[in-house]
Amino acid sequence: MTELDCTRCGACCAAWRVDFHVSGCSAAGGSVPDGLVEPVRGDTVRMRGTDHASPRCAALQGAIGQSVRCAIYAWRPSPCVELQPGSDACLRARRRHGLPAVAD
Ligand code: SF4
Ligand code: SF4
Repeated sequence: MTELDCTRCGACCAAWRVDFHVSGCSAAGGSVPDGLVEPVRGDTVRMRGTDHASPRCAALQGAIGQSVRCAIYAWRPSPCVELQPGSDACLRARRRHGLPAVAD
């Protein structure tokens, strides 16, 4: 089976809140640019755009399901690094965007 191609998807960048520990921010010695992050509560921060009614991360460029890129791919936060193509979360995000569970 052909592997899912994230550069033709982007669904998980526009499906839910992307929260992580504040230590992931550049101001705290992490990698994620501070301007793309907003505080939530306590030690938690969130990628801008991901708590909108129709979530879409501010770092996502392109058209979902067609051609996308993460503008901060090398510096993306831990939830994005950890999410594996083909995982339950991945397939849930793809379903939300009407994308199939297998590569076409
Ligand atoms: S939903 Fe899955 S296939 Fe799509 S970009 Fe995210 S990890 Fe990749
Ligand atoms: S930081 Fe990049 S990989 Fe993570 S949700 Fe935003 S666009 Fe997607």
